[in-house]
Amino acid sequence: MIDNENTFSVNKEPGDTLIVVDVQNDFMPGGALAVTDGHEVVPIINRLSPGFDHVIITQDWHPPGHVSFASTHNDLPFLKRNVGYGEQTLWPDHCVRGTQGAELHPGLIRPTMELAELIVRKGRDAKRDSYSAFIEADRHTHTGLHAYLTTHKVKRVFVAGLALDYCVAATAIDAANLGYETYVVLDACRAVSEAAMALADERMRYAGVRYTRSTMIRTYW
Ligand SMILES: [Zn+2]
Repeated sequence: MIDNENTFSVNKEPGDTLIVVDVQNDFMPGGALAVTDGHEVVPIINRLSPGFDHVIITQDWHPPGHVSFASTHNDLPFLKRNVGYGEQTLWPDHCVRGTQGAELHPGLIRPTMELAELIVRKGRDAKRDSYSAFIEADRHTHTGLHAYLTTHKVKRVFVAGLALDYCVAATAIDAANLGYETYVVLDACRAVSEAAMALADERMRYAGVRYTRSTMIRTYW
């Protein structure tokens, strides 16, 4: 877990938005693409959610035969392959739309899912992946989340969920580049690998993403 000079205490402001990334069964221990201790983020996110003006949830939501699945290419998981829009890491089949693995963790239902006003489903196109909740892997196609947050005059976003080194980082980097003051809530995230985390840390810092912890977010009104 990264915890360093880039970790800040922050006072809550009206309009602050929590983005809960991919807290889905397939990313939990025992799931198709398990993140170690992934389930531990659920109670932390549930404690955080009620304090935010806006709660947004994302779901990885792939059709069968998705471009990110190793099985689609008759290749091995975790290898990389050029798929037209660039290099794509190949994963085991995961978060196939409509399956149990794609469902949100049942512990997230109260209160986070009840409070959520928008669920962004990403990676829906068979030919295009999306780690980010904002812009898909072709780096052109927007999910609509930026337009939604702009409509609601959101200035600051807090990102939590799975996995810190992939979809959380990609979402936070895009948020920062789109002009949001962006915080990643470290203790409400878990990462896949140390190597990917080191790279994600570097890229997040470069984009101006700040880190915080659930215990360092204060409400004053
Ligand atoms: Zn995926």
